[in-house]
Amino acid sequence: MSDVPLQKLNQRSAVRADIAALEPYVPGEQPQGGKWIKLNTNENPYAPSPAVARAIVNTTSDRTLARYPDPLATVFRMRAARVLEIDPDWIMCGNGSDDLLTILVRTFVGAGEWLRMTWPSYILYRTLAGIQGASFEEYRFHSDWSLGNDFCLDREGLRLALLANPNSPSGTLLSPARVKEIADQISCPLVVDEAYGDFSKTNCIDLVRSNDRIIVTRSLSKSYALAGLRFGFVIAQPHVIEQLHKVKDSYNCDTLSIAAATAAIDDQAWLMMNRNAIIATRSRLTDGMRALGFHAEDSQANFVWCTHPDRPHRQLYESLKQRGILVRYMNYPGWGDGLRISVGTDLEIDQYLSTLSDIMIAQS
Ligand SMILES: *Cc1c(COP(=O)(O)O)cnc(C)c1O
Repeated sequence: MSDVPLQKLNQRSAVRADIAALEPYVPGEQPQGGKWIKLNTNENPYAPSPAVARAIVNTTSDRTLARYPDPLATVFRMRAARVLEIDPDWIMCGNGSDDLLTILVRTFVGAGEWLRMTWPSYILYRTLAGIQGASFEEYRFHSDWSLGNDFCLDREGLRLALLANPNSPSGTLLSPARVKEIADQISCPLVVDEAYGDFSKTNCIDLVRSNDRIIVTRSLSKSYALAGLRFGFVIAQPHVIEQLHKVKDSYNCDTLSIAAATAAIDDQAWLMMNRNAIIATRSRLTDGMRALGFHAEDSQANFVWCTHPDRPHRQLYESLKQRGILVRYMNYPGWGDGLRISVGTDLEIDQYLSTLSDIMIAQS
């Protein structure tokens, strides 16, 4: 105790006790500079649509940036509505889907109430409960990444459930029929986090039309190659969106990001081209990992979850890092650890696979 500076001690006690006790969410490494093959944070290996840069430049002319942005990002919602074949009133935009998840938890879950989630899944969800002073409970996936009906059990104070679909780190997908079954049984609204929805064979947007307790979130970070921009949107029935509006920051999306996101969603040909390339490379990565003796989960996202029956995963991660390749090492106490490999370009994946093969030969 005596070597803790006094100032720090005071700071500690000034902070809400539940925030002081909160484990900070640690995102994947983002090395600045250096030549890395970066396969650790599910970024798109390709550039965004060239229309994005043009749209950003256009916002810098005259006095556009002197004005506040459109609080409802109407131009984006109109174009997204056309692509998704829904009404713009069913869409709210956010500063990345993490912002939207925060808004959803703040809207539905009060202090002392319960947030339900799956496990292993997106660890940020725990943080959202913590910030809100809410409790959370995690329901284990079965070993084949299916979800048992206990996820739908009643509990007093249960206010919201979060389901990443496709899930991370597994890349596995619950069918819309299964999601509907869960939503029909559970006593609270269900958020389907479709950050990877553009890479999967099915999604749950249609379910929102007939069920106001299903809420879908989408991100432009992964499929549209705009992780650096920060833009996402939520799809829900208009009376739900109306409540979310009260909770969001007035200007949660800036003029640059609204213009850029609008240009990106307008270029569906670009999205499809990159998506198809990533799905093809995903097969190459999956096959390559299996050839090296790994169990590689069939993925519906832009990453593949891999485990090896006897090679220590952390050591493989470290060895790859030494050779300039970053993958994500994940350890879930009580479940096990593994490597989550983001799908890069064909060239990156070939370099990764041959480096990993060299490492495994050298370590055997
Ligand atoms: C990447 C990710 C997000 C966050 O997306 P942003 O739009 O970049 O905030 C949300 N949910 C899951 C499951 C993710 O993997």
